[in-house]
Amino acid sequence: MKKVKYDVVVLGGGAAGMGAIKGALSENVKTLLIEREASTGGVLNQCIHNGFGIHVFNQELSGPEYHEMYLEKLGTFDAMYETTVLKVDEKHNLLHAISKDGVYEIEYGALVLATGARERPFEALRISGTRPAGIFTAGLAQHFVNLENKLPGHKAVILGSGDIGLIMARRLTLEGVKVEGVYEIMPYQGGLTRNIVQCLDDFNIPLHLSTSVIKVHGKERLEGVTVAKFENGRPVEGSERFIECDTLVASVGLIPENDLVKEIVEIDLSEGAVVDDLMRTNIPNIFAAGNNVCIHDLVDFVTMEGEMAGKNAALVSKGEKLPERKAIIKEGNNVRILSTKYTTASQAFKLYLRVSKPMGTTALYLNDERIKVVPVAKPSEMIELTLDPSKYKMRGKVILSALEVGK
Ligand SMILES: Cc1cc2nc3c(=O)[nH]c(=O)nc-3n(C[C@H](O)[C@H](O)[C@H](O)COP(=O)(O)OP(=O)(O)OC[C@H]3O[C@@H](n4cnc5c(N)ncnc54)[C@H](O)[C@@H]3O)c2cc1C
Repeated sequence: MKKVKYDVVVLGGGAAGMGAIKGALSENVKTLLIEREASTGGVLNQCIHNGFGIHVFNQELSGPEYHEMYLEKLGTFDAMYETTVLKVDEKHNLLHAISKDGVYEIEYGALVLATGARERPFEALRISGTRPAGIFTAGLAQHFVNLENKLPGHKAVILGSGDIGLIMARRLTLEGVKVEGVYEIMPYQGGLTRNIVQCLDDFNIPLHLSTSVIKVHGKERLEGVTVAKFENGRPVEGSERFIECDTLVASVGLIPENDLVKEIVEIDLSEGAVVDDLMRTNIPNIFAAGNNVCIHDLVDFVTMEGEMAGKNAALVSKGEKLPERKAIIKEGNNVRILSTKYTTASQAFKLYLRVSKPMGTTALYLNDERIKVVPVAKPSEMIELTLDPSKYKMRGKVILSALEVGK
């Protein structure tokens, strides 16, 4: 077994991990990146559409462009690629990893978790029928088309209106696949409005809300699916319709990837690592950033979180004492997800939230105080808040809620 020792180790080399490397290097500490793929970038590498970098670079870039430009900012750093971390031993500050040239024990002063997210599998949906070839998760289909130049099929149905599904509806259409439609069980869209417009409306791809696949047909290869309207979570009798297709692309959600640390680090109900406003977990020398904290719709915020996690990890590795947590932040009415669950109330910080249902003009409250009004609030779109402890009381328990104005 080979042994190495670093002040800061960053686990995962996507946007969050690259940000963490930058943050740690800014404090001049010995820093190592560990990434299971052959290069940095993570999901950015397969996102060849534009829409990345609006905040960090003031430009609309593709995923690979964003990756490249950010790498240029980083300069050189130590990295172990094609290396997978199998175990985190937080008691001894050790990672156990395996790479092409053997097994490693890596000692860290502080650790940043930047492991991203995995796709919710089709099997999680409990849809009846057979399981022939031709059923893909959206990210896998994207990987085949964008990185391997392989088409998944010729006539596709997209299940779920999350961003990856919408982007794949357009991508497959551009590659000559007939996309029959996007089917969404909820009465509202799952992805960003800009993706509904640019990926569906611009290509005349219909979006069927309150509708889902209830049966899969085919023996060796997919032959079609039955879809039905849904009301109160159940299929409406008589609304069933058979659609002939050879490809079913399921875009039914991302799950924060925390399997490695789920018995060590506090995890929330959506499986995200719970962090405070310094991106610190419940373990003082373990930080987390990016999609393993909560699923982000903009890479820029992932990068910023990563930079903060890396910098604070470096400070801890140098023996600096960071401020203690002063308040717990809780989801109140109509708030489903919060990116930050504790605050040290030591500085102004950004927090991202998602509401639990679509609302018109919405006021956001911190306890009883109205702190922001947004013209519209959708579960698919994160709302950014800046919370300044010199303006708002942040001690004990702080509740964030969202209420539709005038209702
Ligand atoms: C399809 C799609 C489209 C998007 N479109 C946009 C857009 O248009 N505009 C925008 O701003 N944002 C967009 N986003 C959001 C943004 O790109 C992502 O939120 C962000 O890139 C996620 O970065 P991350 O570092 O958290 O995760 P990832 O990019 O997933 O990186 C995690 C890394 O960790 C590595 N890893 C995991 N476990 C281990 C382990 N045990 N050992 C070693 N390595 C490990 C993985 O290999 C991976 O490289 C999109 C996201 C997706 C999925």
